[in-house]
Amino acid sequence: MKKHYYVDGEWKSSNKYTELLSPHTKEAIAQIPQATLEDVETAIDIAYETRKQMAALTAYERAAILEQIGQLFMDNRQKAAEIISLEAAKPIKYALGEIDRTIETYKFAAEEAKRLTGEMIPMDAAKNGANRFGYTIEEPIGVIGAITPFNFPQNLVAHKVGPAIAAGNTIVLKPASQTPLSALFLAELIDQTALPKGVFNVVTGSGKTIGDALVKNDKVKMITFTGSPAVGKGIQEKAGLKKVALELGSNSGLIIDKNVDLAKIVPKCVMGAFSNQGQVCISLQRTYVMDEIYDEFLEQFSTLTNQLVIGSPDEESTDISAMIHPDEQARALSWVQEAVEQGSKIISGGTIENGVFLPTILANVSSTSKVSCQEVFAPIVVVNRISSIQEGISAINNSDFGLQAGIFTNDIQTAFKASKELQVGGVMINDIPTYRIDQMPYGGVKESGTGKEGVKYAIHEMTETKLVVWNQQ
Ligand code: NAP
Repeated sequence: MKKHYYVDGEWKSSNKYTELLSPHTKEAIAQIPQATLEDVETAIDIAYETRKQMAALTAYERAAILEQIGQLFMDNRQKAAEIISLEAAKPIKYALGEIDRTIETYKFAAEEAKRLTGEMIPMDAAKNGANRFGYTIEEPIGVIGAITPFNFPQNLVAHKVGPAIAAGNTIVLKPASQTPLSALFLAELIDQTALPKGVFNVVTGSGKTIGDALVKNDKVKMITFTGSPAVGKGIQEKAGLKKVALELGSNSGLIIDKNVDLAKIVPKCVMGAFSNQGQVCISLQRTYVMDEIYDEFLEQFSTLTNQLVIGSPDEESTDISAMIHPDEQARALSWVQEAVEQGSKIISGGTIENGVFLPTILANVSSTSKVSCQEVFAPIVVVNRISSIQEGISAINNSDFGLQAGIFTNDIQTAFKASKELQVGGVMINDIPTYRIDQMPYGGVKESGTGKEGVKYAIHEMTETKLVVWNQQ
C-alpha cells in the first residue's frame, strides 16, 4: 500500500518510494515516500509560518487538543497497537501496553499545558533591587525538529509531540525508517483534531539523507532526538546554536543484594532483560549478584527465561519475536561469540532459531566484552558474581553510559549508598533499571545524553524563559 507523508494538513506523495518490510515475515507491508531535501524545507517553512498562530492558542485550547489526541488513541487502541506490532515486530501485548502509555503521555501533556507558569522573582532581595517587581514567562520556542527511534514508535513520538503542543510550538517529525506507519497514523488522528493545519508535520525518509536538512535549518529552533549515541553526537556537532535534547542509549545495570526475595525479583529481571527483544534503552543488560545467592538467582532466572514464548508478534501469547533487522541479529550473535571467546559461559540461548534471536543469559562476562561495555540492544543479559555492593556500584559506574540503574536490597544504608554513588540519571531502589512511567524526569548522564524528558521536563526544554521587570519608580 502506497503511503503519503503529512505536511500542512495535506497528504503528499513523493517521486521515490521504498518498500517497508515486516521484521517478522520479511514481506513488504507498505511503500513509504522518501521525502527530498526540498520537501523537508517546505515542511519547515510551513511549521515556521504557523508558529504565531500556534503560539496564540490559549492553554485551554492546547489542553483540549491534547485530550482529544488521547481520546482518539483510546478509540483506536487495538489498531494503533497492531501497527506497532506489524512494523516493529513488537509482541502485541507489549504494543498494547505502549498505546496505554501513549494515552497517558498525551493526558499528562494536556494537564501540564494548563500549568505552564513562570515564577515570581524576589527582586528586592538584592541590594539594588528595591521597587522592582519581576516575573518570568515560559514562551514557545518555535519550530521543533523531532527525530525518533524504532523501538517505541508511538510513545516516544508522544514524548516529543505532546510537550511541543503543550508549550505552543510547531513540529516537523522524522520517524525511524523502520517505523513510519505509527507516525503517519498519529498524523491521521491529529488531522481529526482542532490543531491548526501546518502545526504538526511528518516527513518520512532516511535519516542519513534528510536528517541534516532538519538539523541545520535555522528556522528550526530545537532538535529533540531519541536514538543511538553515534547519531546523537553527529546531530550535536551539526546543530550550531539551536537547542538540542539527546535521549541516547545505555548498558543499564542492576545490583542484587543477598538478603532479597528472589521469587519476587526474578520475573521482573526476565521482563527487564527481554521485553521488546531487549531493544529498550533501559533494558537490563548487566546484572551483578551477591555471591551468596548467585547460583540460586542464575538457576531461577534461566528457568523462567526458558519458559518465554517465542513466536509471531501478533499472537497474544508471544513474549519474544524477531529483532528489528537480520543485520542486528547477526551483530548480536557476533558479540555473544566474542564474549564466549573472552571466557563467558552461555547459560540460556546464544543462537538464532527460526529467525528469532533466543533470549540469552551470559555468565562470567569480562567488563571489556562488547555485550558488557557497549549497548547490546538485543535480548542478551550479563549475570556476574560480586562479593560486595561496592564492587557492583563500581562495575555499573565503569561505563560510558549512565541512563538508569537499579538495586534490590532490604538494607536501607545500602540503598542510600547506591542512590548516592551510582552515576546515572535515575536510580531505582527495589526495581529493575527498566522501570519507567511517563511523567517522571527521564534522561541520562555521560554518553546517555543531555536534557530531560518526562512531560513537564520536556516542556521546560521546549520553552524560552523570558524575564519581565517592572520598575515601580
Ligand atoms: P538510530 O539509528 O540512532 O535512529 C534514530 C533516528 O535517527 C531515526 O529516525 C533515524 O532515521 C535517524 N537518523 C539516522 N541517521 C541520522 C542522521 N545522520 N541525522 C539525523 N537523523 C538520523 O536509533 P534506532 O536504532 O532507531 O534506536 C535505537 C537507539 O535509540 C538505541 O541506542 C536506544 O538506546 C536509543 N533510545 C534511547 C531512548 C532514550 O529515551 N534514552 C529511548 C529509546 C531508544 P533512519 O531510521 O531513517 O535511519
